[in-house]
Amino acid sequence: MNLREQFPLLASDPGIHYLDSGASSQVPQAVLDAVHTFETAQRANVHRGVHRLAEAATAAYEGARYEIAAFFSGRRDEIVLTSGTTAAINLVAHSFGDGLKPGDEIVITEIEHHSNIVPWQMLRDRRGLVLKALPVTVEGRIDLSALDGMVTKKTKLIALAHCSNVTGAVADLAKVVAAAKAVGAAVLVDGAQRVPHGPLDIPALGVDFYAFSGHKMYAPHGIGVLWGKRERLEAMPPFLGGGDMIRHVTIEKTTYAPPPTRFEAGTPNISGAIGLGAACRWMSGLDWKAIAQEEMRLTGRVLDGLAKVPGARVVGPLGLQQRIGVVSFALGQAHPHDVAQILDRHGVACRGGHHCAEPLMDRFDLMGTTRASIAPYTEDADIDALLEGVDEARRLLG
Ligand code: PMP
Repeated sequence: MNLREQFPLLASDPGIHYLDSGASSQVPQAVLDAVHTFETAQRANVHRGVHRLAEAATAAYEGARYEIAAFFSGRRDEIVLTSGTTAAINLVAHSFGDGLKPGDEIVITEIEHHSNIVPWQMLRDRRGLVLKALPVTVEGRIDLSALDGMVTKKTKLIALAHCSNVTGAVADLAKVVAAAKAVGAAVLVDGAQRVPHGPLDIPALGVDFYAFSGHKMYAPHGIGVLWGKRERLEAMPPFLGGGDMIRHVTIEKTTYAPPPTRFEAGTPNISGAIGLGAACRWMSGLDWKAIAQEEMRLTGRVLDGLAKVPGARVVGPLGLQQRIGVVSFALGQAHPHDVAQILDRHGVACRGGHHCAEPLMDRFDLMGTTRASIAPYTEDADIDALLEGVDEARRLLG
């Protein structure tokens, strides 16, 4: 399957070895076409005008919501369109979180991206809550054996990443959901790194909230989703106030629209939503069983290759079970920015740094790692270039 040629940026230059999809994926022609059609043939604001362009824009925007809902097996009123994972988590931290009382507890983990840490610290400080974090094992997985001691009758929410953006580990959500249910707590999952790797039945996970970003799943930047269980969303007050999210406004007071509109104040990212709908459509047409096998074969090549490099240390699972194709490594004492710069000389785009996961870097006593992330368009030539670049980095910096 040659997916690379469907991505104009990659097809334009065989010398580009894009292994930074964990930060932002590339965008296929099908998504670019959908955005182009909106901007050139349907562009208008949504939910307002009665002229034909306004109606076409509204139909395209709401049609995209249907497509996103269908792809994730959700209902359209459970899909809140946001600007991304960060906005989705902050929405929950305000709308759900402001209902919490002093002394209530929130459990996060040490593996989290800052976007699933900082909003909870801010909420803790606003509401006088207790914030706890599950530790991380040497293998780079959330240590769920600590759940028993950490989850109490005061726990109101457990918030964790489905897949780590640093170690690539996939969390055992069923265990977390069981522990949360036992005390009546809600579960929020940061799915930013899970969604690029194939379709997902979100309601079947048994969680309450699921947040993700479009730009990591072949869609434009600045669009994302908060999926929320209907009963949860209906019980939550709005976060931002303004146009579109209302039922009726007088100078004295306002009544709010039902979800998802209640949480979408102001003019939304219309072309972004249409792009995300198109990305879901594009993803539905792919053979994900074959892609998963190929992604794991290439991940195995990276892990095997790094195992042969003196001084290279992988931060994350060394096997292929319960992991995605995100591989982080340290190279002796070399600074990850220096490693990434040498890789760039080989045409290899890799992320170097703390990956917005400083507590996890502290856990492994590292200032950062170099990270290669694998996508459906990754090919053997990309892995060859990566391993050649790592070898040069070792010689120059090791
Ligand atoms: N969580 C994880 C696991 C991520 O990898 C990222 C993006 N690096 C985010 C959250 C934040 O996503 P965004 O910047 O799109 O809001």
